[in-house]
Amino acid sequence: MQQPTLQQITGKTKLLGVIGDPVEHSLSPAMHNAAIADLNLDYAYLPFPIAAENLETAIAGFAAIGLVGFNITIPHKQTIMPFLAEISPVARAVGAVNTVWRSEKGWEGTNTDVEGFLAPLKTLNRDWTQTVAVVLGNGGAARAVVAGAAQLGCREVRVVGRNREKLDRFAASWQNSPIEVNLKPYRADAVAEAVSGATLLVNATPVGMSPHVDRSPFETALFAKLAADAIAYDLIYTPSPTQFLREAQQVGITAIDGAEMLVCQGAAALEKWLQQPVPVAVMRQALRAGLDGRGR
Ligand code: NAP
Repeated sequence: MQQPTLQQITGKTKLLGVIGDPVEHSLSPAMHNAAIADLNLDYAYLPFPIAAENLETAIAGFAAIGLVGFNITIPHKQTIMPFLAEISPVARAVGAVNTVWRSEKGWEGTNTDVEGFLAPLKTLNRDWTQTVAVVLGNGGAARAVVAGAAQLGCREVRVVGRNREKLDRFAASWQNSPIEVNLKPYRADAVAEAVSGATLLVNATPVGMSPHVDRSPFETALFAKLAADAIAYDLIYTPSPTQFLREAQQVGITAIDGAEMLVCQGAAALEKWLQQPVPVAVMRQALRAGLDGRGR
């Protein structure tokens, strides 16, 4: 794989990047720079570690140096919103921004996690209108899943949470959302009821990540309650497969891991900045190489 080198950076090189704290483990620079090199463009994508208290100053600085756009990761996905001149309806519905670009209005933001989440599902060519989707977890990623399921046209989205207050707040937050969704909250002790007849089951909890890779957020026996053509989708991309997906596959359920979501949210951001199609396969390969390098 061709990598951009310092010698290729000139006075004309345009800058992109990702802000977060921490950001040193991000695989986004590898994915984006591989695509930029493949397209033979004069851009560079850099990681910027920005502490919470420096966010406003950093964004003003980015405007001053003419940064074209940037991704946002933890902990700035919500706190950046007051500093943006324009926020897309999908990002408002999700309540978080992961992609920002410069326009004549100032910084504008959107959320490409929804597009990333949907990408592997759209390849399945299904009629989603009768689908009941179940989301395990009610955190930040669950919001992108709910918005995605609504965009797919799912009949109902059931969200399973372990903390009643958080779950109620999550459900209430969709009532005046720019994205219409038929959402039903379920307590964790009612998960069997929630998954009954469901066709799409999404893990949006971190259960199954290192070091507890032998854990699953879902009881194996409950897979039998899903619809016959059900899909199990884990947002976790390392390890792959997770215990959740391994158990789903053992009972013949289609399994999708979180790698494609990660690649496709990045590809959607790069397309926004470059205003041209980007080589998704190159980004996928760069992510895989990065994950393999970590021994996933
Ligand atoms: P988050 O905001 O912290 O939310 C995590 C959710 O999981 C919360 O609802 C939390 O419940 C629940 N949870 C945590 N531990 C649990 C446990 N032991 N049992 C049951 N529920 C538990 O995190 P997030 O940003 O949504 O991320 C969730 C997962 O998605 C992570 O694994 C992350 O890596 C993955 N992700 C992947 C992508 C991708 O591109 N593939 C993108 C974003 C996120 P409480 O509310 O009760 O604490």
